[in-house]
Amino acid sequence: STPLSAGSSVDRALGRGVAVFDETVFERLRGVETVVFDKTGTLTTGRMEALSADVPDDLLAAAAELERRASHPAAAAIVDAFGDADVPAVEAFTSHATGVEGVVGDRRVLVGNPDLFAERGWEIPEAVRERAVDVRESGHLPVLVGETAAGDGTVDETDDGPGEAAGVVAVGDESRVDWEATLERLGERGLDVVVLTGDDESAAAEFAASPHVDHVFAEVPPAGKAEAVRRLRASGPVAMVGDGTNDAPALAAADLGVSLGSGTALAAEASDLAVVDDDLGGVAAAFDLSAESYRRRR
Ligand code: ADP
Ligand code: MG
Repeated sequence: STPLSAGSSVDRALGRGVAVFDETVFERLRGVETVVFDKTGTLTTGRMEALSADVPDDLLAAAAELERRASHPAAAAIVDAFGDADVPAVEAFTSHATGVEGVVGDRRVLVGNPDLFAERGWEIPEAVRERAVDVRESGHLPVLVGETAAGDGTVDETDDGPGEAAGVVAVGDESRVDWEATLERLGERGLDVVVLTGDDESAAAEFAASPHVDHVFAEVPPAGKAEAVRRLRASGPVAMVGDGTNDAPALAAADLGVSLGSGTALAAEASDLAVVDDDLGGVAAAFDLSAESYRRRR
């Protein structure tokens, strides 16, 4: 039989929404035993919306000013809902894996998930904690917003002492319409399907309930995703699918990294193939293409 030129299989793949960065990809796809999906932005659309907030307006506007500099879908939702032209300039900024921190005018502001507040030693009053639990239990993301207690013009860039959470923004995200059909196609190929998320189990309940999901690992911090992938590799080759907000290390740790087309350039760099047009079904198409190219070669 005549070997196919790399060009033709690569072109055929592109016609089906799959961009391949490396000629060995089809061969490596055939060996994959486990496919790991990041949740937010991958199984969900990543288009989030702020649903409610119990935080003072001026603090929300300052939080949105910081979130302008973040790439997480939750950040975009907060900018859309609470961005305000009349906010003082950002004087200091730190991006964390689970939120943002900085000085806006005379206030030091922290925005992110409850774990980030704990890590930074910021206080979460009981009422805020309870509200965050309620938000989670209704299937949404609680984003805490806090500032240093002062709020009296005494805060400056060098003042990085802990503050306190003032309230919670509930952010909602929708699952992609084709997520379950895509996972089902993978299951039919005998692949194990794993969902990884930084959120807790209640936020991942919809996925955990599906017969097409074999395992859900919840509350995996962004830095722990690569480690989770390495552990899964102990039982066979792993493909990791991510949107790239903070998934690049996990994509790189997998035998095969798959990025969704809407993801950041960084994710594309860490991946071996990309699904273009932001179409999750392209992940299953990649496995179909791999099987077809194998049959053709025989
Ligand atoms: P997932 O694993 O579901 O994709 P991520 O690892 O992307 O979740 O994020 C972990 C957590 O950090 C989530 O609860 C997310 O909402 C939160 N987070 C990350 N970046 C920000 C940000 N800029 N603002 C608010 N919350 C954030
Ligand atoms: Mg993510």
